Amino acid sequence: MKLFSDHAPTERSEEPSGKDQFAGPRSEMIETQLRRRGVTDSRVLAAMAAVPRHEFVPKELRHRSYEDVPLPIGEGQTISQPYIVAAMTVALGLTGTERVLEIGTGCGYQAAVLSQLTKIVFSVESRSELASTAAARLEKLGYGNVHVHCGDGTLGLSELAPFDAILVAAAAPAVPEPLRAQLAEGGRLILPVGDAENQELRLIERRGNSFHTLVLEGCRFVPLVGYHGWKEPPTR
Ligand code: SAH
Repeated sequence: MKLFSDHAPTERSEEPSGKDQFAGPRSEMIETQLRRRGVTDSRVLAAMAAVPRHEFVPKELRHRSYEDVPLPIGEGQTISQPYIVAAMTVALGLTGTERVLEIGTGCGYQAAVLSQLTKIVFSVESRSELASTAAARLEKLGYGNVHVHCGDGTLGLSELAPFDAILVAAAAPAVPEPLRAQLAEGGRLILPVGDAENQELRLIERRGNSFHTLVLEGCRFVPLVGYHGWKEPPTR
């Protein structure tokens, strides 16, 4: 497994120009897409108000960064809709001390949001192009507590386990066993499970050697392709 960024946590840097032309659309997003839909967790709302989503979206789509939709980020992959990022993040109940694992770095947006809410984030991306671009972007923007790895995330990161929280940003046919196994006591795993068309968000909590599952809402993610995921992307 290749590690793309490995440096000590640093403070996030300010916008170089000092002004943010997307501040308006971003606070509108917080209000209409999150608060009005019942997201009340003030730490998560603050994190999403702080992370410049437009920096994670391809240049030609930047004007659409704060829309209520997932957007293409290249290689057939997508950045999740803001509401889904918020809902999954809230479900993890982060307090600031956790070791968090994300599977499916994509453009790095979800990892940046998580990084605001906890101590350290490890994120695994299987596509090396996306992994290296995301790692460079996160570093440039000052998210020094995110460490991007390139590899098959369905295997987790056994050498760095256990994790207090695991978030999977791609849809699995079933819960990958290594991810359950790498949860710390009381740890939480959130992931979409289902086929190409229909998926549900599941929140799994570890208590000793038992795992309690809560089914949250329906969703639609790109497939999790790997040893404990889809062997090949399912057809839509
Ligand atoms: N969290 C991302 C969204 C990612 S889309 C963001 O904020 O942009 C899902 C990502 O999962 C894609 O980039 C895809 O390449 C990746 N992926 C799919 N299967 C994977 C696997 N087995 N291991 C790691 N990443 C995987």
